[in-house]
Amino acid sequence: LDEARAEARRTYELDRAHVFHSWSAQAEISPMTITASAGSYVWDGDGNRLLDFSSQLVNTNIGHQHPKVVAAIAAQAAKLCTIAPQHANDARSEAARLITSHTPDGLDKVFFTNAGADANEHAVRMARLHTGRYKVLTRYRSYHGGTDTAINMTGDPRRWPNDHANSGVVHFFGPFLYRSRFHAETEQQECERALAHLDEVVRMEGPSTIAAIVLESVPGTAGIMVPPPGYLAGVREICDRHGIVFIADEVMAGFGRTGRWFAFEHGDAVPDLITFAKGVNSGYVPLGGVVIDAEIAATFDHRPYPGGLTYSGHPLATAAAVATIRAMEDEHVVEHAATIGAEVIGPGLHDLAQRHRCIGEIRGAGVFWALELVADRDSREPLAPYGSSSPAMNETIAACKAGGLLPFANFNRIHVVPPCTVTADEVREGLAILDRALDVADGHLG
Ligand code: PLP
Repeated sequence: LDEARAEARRTYELDRAHVFHSWSAQAEISPMTITASAGSYVWDGDGNRLLDFSSQLVNTNIGHQHPKVVAAIAAQAAKLCTIAPQHANDARSEAARLITSHTPDGLDKVFFTNAGADANEHAVRMARLHTGRYKVLTRYRSYHGGTDTAINMTGDPRRWPNDHANSGVVHFFGPFLYRSRFHAETEQQECERALAHLDEVVRMEGPSTIAAIVLESVPGTAGIMVPPPGYLAGVREICDRHGIVFIADEVMAGFGRTGRWFAFEHGDAVPDLITFAKGVNSGYVPLGGVVIDAEIAATFDHRPYPGGLTYSGHPLATAAAVATIRAMEDEHVVEHAATIGAEVIGPGLHDLAQRHRCIGEIRGAGVFWALELVADRDSREPLAPYGSSSPAMNETIAACKAGGLLPFANFNRIHVVPPCTVTADEVREGLAILDRALDVADGHLG
């Protein structure tokens, strides 16, 4: 064990000396060393086991080290590690077939990318070329990725230092009843007023200048706001009226996270382009992509699509996707996510809300839940300001970790986003740790 600790210590020291981390002030971070993972658990450098209620960056939908996926990657590595995108390859062909077997009719073609951000870059490029228009409308309170256009599409503070004047992106407000921009008191009012607002933004921006409206079907990092009934259908109607492409970003919400294969299935609207990544192969090998509807795909039947990547449809990544999707089908992983959310996580979180004054709202579906933590339930003042943290939040998160739970946190929220495969006992174990950690947050309230 001492040897393992020494090795983990060396890993940490090399990291601090040579690894430059995402979104961070490099001198102010202290990354947790992870040495192993299995199912819903990870192990840190001191040998502590932590229950992973983050699914890392909400991507290990099938859990850590699923044996069928690990075996498929090893088998593909032995057979053919890499091949250029211009060739046809069995892993890529089968991954595309399996992905589109879960999308609505007409959405039958896949352009593979390396991750979610470049999936959004390409979806927007397709929409711009298809419509001959430039502008793109996206929500405040959204995340679409860290690359150039994707970060400009993002509606959170990570965009601010990356903004370009010529990005062509215009932001609008989506429905979020708990912090309603529209003075709404019911879901129906919020829905109607959010759609009227979007309609107005489209009118003011000039419908004939707008290539696409891009939405996370259920916004993820921004707070897991499941849209009210009718919202996605209303967006679809606005797009149809003006010839605007409807792009659903399913990078985080897709592949079982909400208890459906794709989160837009909760509404009655079908997008024109679907972007995906993360859950498609649980991130075992980087992979993302765009599912393209027939009309947009036809734009590029006799006109070359001006975009590509050396690793588009990489065999190791697509073989991992094939094994992941088959395992999810065979083991009824998506159905399990829906049931565990409805029967165990949701009721368990509502029970916590009865006992902790710091919980302002619980919302979510499947294995995709947010706890909105507040300093005051009446005023709904968040426990940390928008775009920032606070001692109360930091101490609560530290208490989760000390108790053996790895949470996903953003500003004043804790997200409960375990793998889709999480068991009822694991959920109960995690909620018990969260229960004790929330006492720390309660202690900060007046
Ligand atoms: N879109 C959404 C909704 C996401 O949550 C993310 C990542 O968290 C992305 C896009 C970007 O994906 P990636 O980090 O794989 O580029």
